[in-house]
Amino acid sequence: MIDLKSMNLPELKELCKKLGQPAFRAKQIFAWMYKGVTEFEEMSDLSKELRQTLKEQAYLTHPAVERKQVSQEDGTIKYLWRLMDGNCVETVLMRYHHGNTVCVSSQVGCRMGCAFCASTLAGKVRDLTASEILDQVLFTQLDSGAEISNIVLMGIGEPLDNFENVMRFLELVNHPDGMNIGMRHISLSTCGLTEKIDKLALRRLQLTLSVSLHAPDDETRSKIMPVNRSVGVEKLMNTCRRYFETTGRRISFEYAMIDGVNDSDAQADLLADWLAGTGSHVNLIPLNHVEESPLKPSRRVRAFQKRLADRGVTVTVRRKLGGDIDASCGQLRRKAMGGADVSERM
Ligand code: SAH
Repeated sequence: MIDLKSMNLPELKELCKKLGQPAFRAKQIFAWMYKGVTEFEEMSDLSKELRQTLKEQAYLTHPAVERKQVSQEDGTIKYLWRLMDGNCVETVLMRYHHGNTVCVSSQVGCRMGCAFCASTLAGKVRDLTASEILDQVLFTQLDSGAEISNIVLMGIGEPLDNFENVMRFLELVNHPDGMNIGMRHISLSTCGLTEKIDKLALRRLQLTLSVSLHAPDDETRSKIMPVNRSVGVEKLMNTCRRYFETTGRRISFEYAMIDGVNDSDAQADLLADWLAGTGSHVNLIPLNHVEESPLKPSRRVRAFQKRLADRGVTVTVRRKLGGDIDASCGQLRRKAMGGADVSERM
């Protein structure tokens, strides 16, 4: 069976040709998919025969809302979607004055093993298809009525560990006949897979690459991010420099502040050393407490920020949205997997 929504327009044209159909049918099918139709019967300008043939040979992915939480504080919506094979992933819709941003997942679970992250606790189940990543944007927009203008690939999973499907998703979501979301409105966050960062650089996309650094020294970073044990901070920073040279796009670094682990003055100084002259931006993230983890949020966020700023680093602190609905990723899926009812806990 063909996963129709993972196909790009040239592939759809090829398929139409194979089915003895004129090429313009491909555009019609493409347009229907981005309206969010879930059945071929709904594609009313196609012949009955073609609809029947498509039904026999292909399928349209569509997730079901398993849970939906709406923040009373700021209108943030968190969806837990049930995919067609029964797996669940999360998507968060955040409303900013510059537009609506959706945070999408790229895998079911994650195999990177970061110590502070809820998404990786049970490992990776599977990669998401391009259509399943796209559906999160499409069905969030349809269900909420909020027009999506920005996308961040910062949900469950490591996007560069699902490289081809994520690249295809970017192509599809960017297409003028599809959702038409500009690359400059998309951010991709990675824990720092250096070979994949080099591969991404060659595509010269206009998106923003965020690197989850979280520590400037190997001892600390290897402790909280297993990926660092084989890469190391120096190699990662060299890769980031190459990425900037190839794409002309500045990297943004994420840094989750953990009490007594990565929040010392010495670490701020070392971080400033690494970033000197790069024009990179640092986003400090107040740690979201994960029940299963002994790590606690830092109490030194402002002091750390000031120390970096004094050294000339551009640094912001991430505003927390949806604090009343567990909006940080991975937590809702875990609760659903464990069968615990969120409302019981409040
Ligand atoms: N795998 C990718 C994207 C997913 S996580 C990556 O590692 O970047 C998106 C961001 O949230 C990452 O910076 C991640 O390190 C961070 N994060 C994960 N768990 C967190 C927590 N409990 N508190 C704060 N930030 C967290």
